[in-house]
Amino acid sequence: MPAPRLRSRSLRKVFRKVSGGRVSLHYKKKKPKAARCGNCGALLKGIPRELPFRMRSMAKTKKRPERPYGGVLCSKCMRKEIINKVRQ
Ligand SMILES: [Zn+2]
Repeated sequence: MPAPRLRSRSLRKVFRKVSGGRVSLHYKKKKPKAARCGNCGALLKGIPRELPFRMRSMAKTKKRPERPYGGVLCSKCMRKEIINKVRQ
């Protein structure tokens, strides 16, 4: 039976092979949900699904695509948004 603090379902179980060929059960924090488009809700590509402390140590250019609305809108919605802005 794991320690009470490890019985939480908010932790995920990771089986790790340790030296000696033994398999040990480690507990890790779950990753946050993937980023979604603010307009259509599609999964955003090019955005790492990492814990905040890992995101903080990452370069800005690795965290979202470098284009207008990068990390906010998907590429399709970004194109529509730009066309709409020009037409106004
Ligand atoms: Zn979209």
